[in-house]
Amino acid sequence: MGTVSDYFGSLVFDDRAMRASLSADVYDSMRKTIDEGRELDISVANAVAQAMKVWAVAHGATHFTHWFQPLTGITAEKHDSFITPSPDGSVIMEFSGKELIKGEPDASSFPSGGLRATFEARGYTAWDPTSYAFIKGKTLCIPTAFCSYGGHALDKKTPLLRSMEVLNKQALRILRLFGNDAAKRVVSSVGPEQEYFLITKEMYEQRPDLRFTGRTLFGAKPPKGQEMDDHYFGVIKPGVAAYMEELNEELWKLGILAKTEHNEVAPAQHELAPIYTTTNIATDHNQLTMEIMQKVAAKHGLVCLLHEKPFAGVNGSGKHNNWSIATDSGQNLLSPGDTPYENAQFLLFLCAIIKAVDDYQDLLRISVATAGNDHRLGANEAPPAVISIFLGDELTAILDAIETDTPYMGTAKTQMKLGVDVLPKFNRDTTDRNRTSPFAFTGNKFEFRMLGSSNSIACANIMLNSAVAESLREYADCLEKTEDFETALHEMIKETIKDHKRIIFNGNGYDDAWIKEATEERGLLNYRTTADCMPHLLDEKNVKMLTSLGVFTADELRSRHDIMLENYCKSVVIEANTMINMVHKRVAPAIVRFAADLAKQASEKRAFLPEISCSYETDLVTRLTSLTNSITERTEELEKAVMGLSDAEDIVSEAELIRDTVLPKMSELRIPCDCAELLTAKSYWPFPTYGDILFSVK
Ligand code: ADP
Ligand code: MG
Repeated sequence: MGTVSDYFGSLVFDDRAMRASLSADVYDSMRKTIDEGRELDISVANAVAQAMKVWAVAHGATHFTHWFQPLTGITAEKHDSFITPSPDGSVIMEFSGKELIKGEPDASSFPSGGLRATFEARGYTAWDPTSYAFIKGKTLCIPTAFCSYGGHALDKKTPLLRSMEVLNKQALRILRLFGNDAAKRVVSSVGPEQEYFLITKEMYEQRPDLRFTGRTLFGAKPPKGQEMDDHYFGVIKPGVAAYMEELNEELWKLGILAKTEHNEVAPAQHELAPIYTTTNIATDHNQLTMEIMQKVAAKHGLVCLLHEKPFAGVNGSGKHNNWSIATDSGQNLLSPGDTPYENAQFLLFLCAIIKAVDDYQDLLRISVATAGNDHRLGANEAPPAVISIFLGDELTAILDAIETDTPYMGTAKTQMKLGVDVLPKFNRDTTDRNRTSPFAFTGNKFEFRMLGSSNSIACANIMLNSAVAESLREYADCLEKTEDFETALHEMIKETIKDHKRIIFNGNGYDDAWIKEATEERGLLNYRTTADCMPHLLDEKNVKMLTSLGVFTADELRSRHDIMLENYCKSVVIEANTMINMVHKRVAPAIVRFAADLAKQASEKRAFLPEISCSYETDLVTRLTSLTNSITERTEELEKAVMGLSDAEDIVSEAELIRDTVLPKMSELRIPCDCAELLTAKSYWPFPTYGDILFSVK
């Protein structure tokens, strides 16, 4: 393989490939579609399809697929080959504009939450020309949106594209008010930092819980975990380095800007961050990254765990969604500028975000809610389930000064009147790092840190884009009507700060005192679990905002609500059943066998030396037997809790039963099992321990 710049993007039908293979006219039409969202005419689509096919076949592709992101959260593909029979018995490779633009996969096996009656099995996929086609294996993958025949979105891409569009529309209205007539588009960008665990395949295969649920359901804390803080940014082991090297190559070939990699806090935990790009593409790339991480791991005899909490007592994995908005000419709207006007504009966008995060705390929490992520949030390793914004001392002081009409005591002691006086230039580096905040300003972007490692980033960005678009819409509605722009602007910013400053918190988000203050004094929401938050997706204010902007229809929201709760219930039920199964088949028999052998040895010893006490064996057998009894009792209770789910009248009450009965019973059952693990001889224990697994990769 040549140098990185030789092969970067070699498997992508990107701008270079298009320029090289399309006629000037077709290329121009295609660019207009990509850059300005113009509709594509069929003759252009035919020409693009033809060029794409020639390019793909030259790169070894035999098939094509419409690649989409159904509500399962992973990607789906159905492969069709290019071959078409010719009369002489041979085949030719064909691919038409129609096949490029639209596909009709059988949609009946994808979750629709009641949007598509099963008799209406068809759905269709529609090409998203803004995300480049690429080759995976021998297949040309065409990024597409996935809808029901009735036109309802059955995927994550469609609402994401809609949310980007509404943000674009509302942000442009604001820019025009500031006299910016040049900007054609405003686009949100994301750089997602992805955490993961790497373990050996050998360890993985021996753990049914990892295989069935992605996380360990049993496992006592190892003697050494992450307490020495010696893994974070530590030297990368050779096996991991080889993995990262190949992963980077594969990602680079797909045009994914993999940039940073390092060890994370927990042993066996690592992180990969790409350079940020347009949200839609960042989302596609993150889905691909997660897939390729697992494929490359398999080639190295490893398994990449993307679950949010693979190991109890060890940090879980998240995904930091670094988000900003910029114009098509590259002006970052979250960077303070050099002129008073730019600064006022920056403050208005900042306020729009503050208002959005406060008004729609619930939607942001919902956007990251899964059974897996519930284990992380608020567990002192990830932000709490309470949403707040970190702005840093300087920006907070500036906002205070504006709110109270008092001089800002920073560099220049001037009263702030926006648009007239220069906003003191602030130093990016003073926004110190606060790793405990769910939503932190980091100089020219916000870092939303609540996402789980396996989440699609689509959901978080749909909610973020929409909520911010809603604030901007309110601002624009008011400012467009006013005679005195500067006064209105000043008042608006002041009002926003007054109304929404409760969401700003610069302190330690992991502190219990904060949760108390947040909920009791500030009235912020604290939805601990998916079961708590998800029903609020259908709260009137949320439905109103999302439907009036056109990001979701009311039916689409109801279907998502049902699907997310179903996913939650199903994941936990699978975990509970896996636990029950592992207890019956492995844990209990192992303990019983060990205890029986101990008893046998003790009785042999006594036969040999009648006066000996055998207190070691006696004591251990007693403890193990009492643990076995408690395991039996608790397993029965868990079984009952699972059976009790059939009493639930609807999906909301089922989720509540999961939260209130199944999950607590699982935690209770785990305790005696983990205690028994610590007392049982290694040769008897039926699967690898945390120590074995976490230090397995060399
Ligand atoms: P950290 O210290 O949290 O690792 P970095 O500065 O390394 O932060 O950036 C993390 C991620 O943020 C990267 O993916 C980077 O590309 C992305 N990022 C940087 N600037 C922006 C921006 N303006 N918009 C969106 N993402 C950005
Ligand atoms: Mg970060």
